[in-house]
Amino acid sequence: MKLLLHACCGPCSLEPTRILRAAGHDLAIYYANSNIAPADEHARRLATLRAWADGEGLPVIEGPYDPATWEACAGRVGAAALAAIGDDALRSATEPSAREARCRACYRLRLSETARTAAELGFDGVGTTLSVSPYQFTEVIGEELERAAANAGVRAVFEDFRPFYDEAVRRSRALGMYRQNYCGCRFSEAEAEAERKARKAARAAERAAEAEARAAERAAAEAERAARRAERAAYDAKQAKKRAVLKTLRERRREGEDEARGDA
Ligand code: SF4
Repeated sequence: MKLLLHACCGPCSLEPTRILRAAGHDLAIYYANSNIAPADEHARRLATLRAWADGEGLPVIEGPYDPATWEACAGRVGAAALAAIGDDALRSATEPSAREARCRACYRLRLSETARTAAELGFDGVGTTLSVSPYQFTEVIGEELERAAANAGVRAVFEDFRPFYDEAVRRSRALGMYRQNYCGCRFSEAEAEAERKARKAARAAERAAEAEARAAERAAAEAERAARRAERAAYDAKQAKKRAVLKTLRERRREGEDEARGDA
């Protein structure tokens, strides 16, 4: 099938393109990611994708970069969710239900653009690399891909690529690819930063608890050694006292014997 594959970045494209090509699909990549902020991050991910795809002989079609449109749909949903739960990046980071509606709107925008373009350019079907990430809402991606494809009149080719995520990480590292540390939007950047801070704080708390436990162990061992030293000192003192009494007794007996010999 002539397939237009939406791609979010280079690393996430490695395994889906390998699998879809092996299945016989004729692929072109569509980079439509108005979610990515800031603009130089968008450009950096595209450059990484292009550099790799050129070597693979995969055409890359660049979609529009329109952050204002993204803000008007997914950004608005994300801001409303934050307002509902409190403007706290950490709580948002740990609250998947607050993210799901925003991510659904984000997938909808990008996959609809991809499906429309697929129809305009004569592709038979549309797919996405988004489902390689275990950090995404896989079912929602599948639903939105189906929806976008049906609206555009092309076929949806959805696959859960998550089992290949580790291999994608390994290959992208081996290739020296740029690997971003957040999904793409401004919310995800704040959430990723909050999660990193929370993990750092948890590790610091764990190290402090371990140090405290080691110090308590050392103190208990030292107390035990001190108790043994005191016990030993008490025993030595008792023995010394016993020896002194015996010595006194022996001296008295000798004196008694001397006196007895003098009398005789
Ligand atoms: S976290 Fe990722 S998928 Fe979700 S809204 Fe942000 S950029 Fe889109």
